[in-house]
Amino acid sequence: MTLLDQQIRERFAAAQRIAVISHIRPDGDAIGSVLGLGTALQEAGKDVQFVLADGISAVYRFLKNAGLAQKEISGEIDLAVVVDCSDLERTGGVLGERQPEMNIDHHVTNLHYAQVNLVEDSAATAEIIAKHLPQWGLPFSRETAEALLTGILTDTIGFRTSNVSAETLHTAASLMEHGIDMPDIYHRVLVERTYEAVRLWGRGIDKLQRMDSILWGVLTAEDRKAAAYPGKDDAELISLLSSVRDADVAVLFIEQDAQHVKVSWRARPGFDVSRAALHFGGGGHAPAAGATIEGTLEEVIPRVLDETKQVIEQKKTG
Ligand code: 5GP
Ligand code: MN
Repeated sequence: MTLLDQQIRERFAAAQRIAVISHIRPDGDAIGSVLGLGTALQEAGKDVQFVLADGISAVYRFLKNAGLAQKEISGEIDLAVVVDCSDLERTGGVLGERQPEMNIDHHVTNLHYAQVNLVEDSAATAEIIAKHLPQWGLPFSRETAEALLTGILTDTIGFRTSNVSAETLHTAASLMEHGIDMPDIYHRVLVERTYEAVRLWGRGIDKLQRMDSILWGVLTAEDRKAAAYPGKDDAELISLLSSVRDADVAVLFIEQDAQHVKVSWRARPGFDVSRAALHFGGGGHAPAAGATIEGTLEEVIPRVLDETKQVIEQKKTG
């Protein structure tokens, strides 16, 4: 066992009231990591708080303990574990000034903000948890396996991202061996979509533009209204954009309100869009990154496209 695993094991053993926390606008990896690790801690007899500032969307409610998710920490806790967050701002401020004891994450941009930091370059945070959990002296139930497999499936978009390794597949296979119906989860979280989501795609696709090898698009508040789309996210349109041949980088601008734009970047292997995201106060990975930027669409779009051009230049100049 590594020293880090030993430290994590001891911290879990010593704590009773534990908050497992992840990021705002949670994706499947954030949710799967919180529910997978939290459920294992709960089954070890701990008092667990499952903390997600924006709650859990309907798609993921089939996972055990999804109904227990809370938007803030309540009362005293002995231990705070933050999962899948490269910085503390990503938690939506649920910790206030409190420094978390633990940070488990797979983002290269992670700031190592906790007392114990388990940061590894894996395909998903859920993959790190699945690999290390047996060392931490916690039960590994079918329900934990189901949540962790959901995290791996969604963050790799069904094992399609360039960071998928043989080890990722081995880990996924061992999770399936807990009796998990992987194709069923795959269908629920990656294939099925709402009518409104596809209508929103239509609005975005209609406005796509190309600039050199950058493909970019915009989703406005007006688009969401016209499509009757309830969320403020992109309904995964960015994944579709990243499938367009000949584009090295895809960028999507999602208007949040009059003064904030969420930006998502996706890039082919060899390009590093996390640098552009970091420049605007966001983060992520070389092939997939994001940021929320202050300003109107008119202000933000040219600034981001300029910075994105530099990502392409950097690749050309090595
Ligand atoms: P997405 O574009 O799907 O929102 O995010 C792509 C990647 O960038 C994910 O790994 C996500 O965690 C990261 N990311 C997205 N938005 C932010 C942000 O505002 N701050 C940080 N640090 N990372 C972000
Ligand atoms: Mn993740």
